[in-house]
Amino acid sequence: MEYNPLFDGTYHLRPWVDSLPLEYKYSLGVAGKTFSEGLKQGKILASKCSRCNESRIPPSIYCVGCFGYSDGYVQVSETGTLYSFASRGDVVVAAVEFKGVKGLLFHRLAVSDRNKLEIGAPVRPVFVQQAIRKGDITDIDHFELAV
Ligand SMILES: [Zn+2]
Repeated sequence: MEYNPLFDGTYHLRPWVDSLPLEYKYSLGVAGKTFSEGLKQGKILASKCSRCNESRIPPSIYCVGCFGYSDGYVQVSETGTLYSFASRGDVVVAAVEFKGVKGLLFHRLAVSDRNKLEIGAPVRPVFVQQAIRKGDITDIDHFELAV
């Protein structure tokens, strides 16, 4: 039998760690560009459907709820809610929900006392200094508990 580095003969999966040196460019589109510009200004923007009034994050030009055109944008509240989280080592990744907005925003959550971590806790974004913002999600350095 030929040697297969991914198969150990016992049907157990084996890890394979490697990387591919790929570079790609991604078009933000209309809604993504608006979201990006908002981040540069320290704002998190959600798209708003003109037909059913549903707000959604990340923004989209088409409403998922009614398939209408979402041509408006609203700034989400300054404080969101911890919808869920996962941690590994020192890193905590949070799914943040904003009142009146469908969808979630995933980002790092800085927390000094993990005993304070609970679903439903208020969290707020901490933006990097305006001079170094680039219009991408890393303009939000992290979220923090707002308690
Ligand atoms: Zn709609």
